Amino acid sequence: MVVKGRYRTNEVWFDKDNQPFAPFTHYVVGGNSKMYGAASFRLRESDFQQTQHESGISPAWPLTYADFAPYYDQAEQLYSVHGIRGVDPTEPPTSKPYPFGPITPEPFAKDLYENVQRAGLKPFPIPMAVRLGQDKLGQPNAPTVLSNFDGFPDPSEAKADAHVTNVRAALQFPNVTLQTNTFATRLITGPLRVIPRRRFGPPAALRYLFRFSDEEMALACGPHRAYRVAH
Ligand SMILES: Cc1cc2nc3c(=O)[nH]c(=O)nc-3n(C[C@H](O)[C@H](O)[C@H](O)COP(=O)(O)OP(=O)(O)OC[C@H]3O[C@@H](n4cnc5c(N)ncnc54)[C@H](O)[C@@H]3O)c2cc1C
Repeated sequence: MVVKGRYRTNEVWFDKDNQPFAPFTHYVVGGNSKMYGAASFRLRESDFQQTQHESGISPAWPLTYADFAPYYDQAEQLYSVHGIRGVDPTEPPTSKPYPFGPITPEPFAKDLYENVQRAGLKPFPIPMAVRLGQDKLGQPNAPTVLSNFDGFPDPSEAKADAHVTNVRAALQFPNVTLQTNTFATRLITGPLRVIPRRRFGPPAALRYLFRFSDEEMALACGPHRAYRVAH
């Protein structure tokens, strides 16, 4: 999927020097999590602080890791994260174990793990968002091949992506609608109205101008796109 660029946008974006580039982002229900490798690390405390990088300063966030920690707890539950606390020396403070224990390493990874340990290093299993049949009723029972996760949607739905965990759960509510093949171009607060704007290119690319009545909303079309839609 990644190699063929299926679901990858054909938009052209521009970098800080105004140079065009093809963004490595996918437009599909579930977003890039359909392609992701399901490695589920929390940001570190220092990620929220002002950081000096080689090319400049990353400013401090208005919120800290402590503000996010309870939501990480909930997200790890929702995404069935498998891992083990206390073995990753860079892990931020947590109040709960991972919902599920670490994934058993495949034979090759086990050998590598033990050899790296023998060399005096401290390897640890990557926390993985995966819904295994043995963990909960109603989870997929198909054999799970983790190496097929990175760069591929998982038709067995064992990979906990945003579609199988969140979108599907949200659609259980009668007031939630999923409108596919729809591209928001601008976000305007005010009386609720959806205005068909104009058709671009292929018929699937129907684009709309949205109006919302709510004061608060979540615009979740990826950080770069969200900025464009909101401004
Ligand atoms: C191959 C690959 C492997 C990765 N592996 C990992 C990993 O192992 N662990 C990890 O933590 N992260 C990984 N990532 C990154 C992770 O997938 C993203 O950080 C995450 O999905 C971002 O989530 P998001 O909701 O912010 O945006 P996205 O997942 O980008 O979702 C944005 C959604 O908005 C839609 N959209 C965009 N613009 C509009 C618009 N104007 N109108 C309407 N809808 C719009 C898109 O179609 C998409 O559905 C990986 C990514 C890739 C591509």
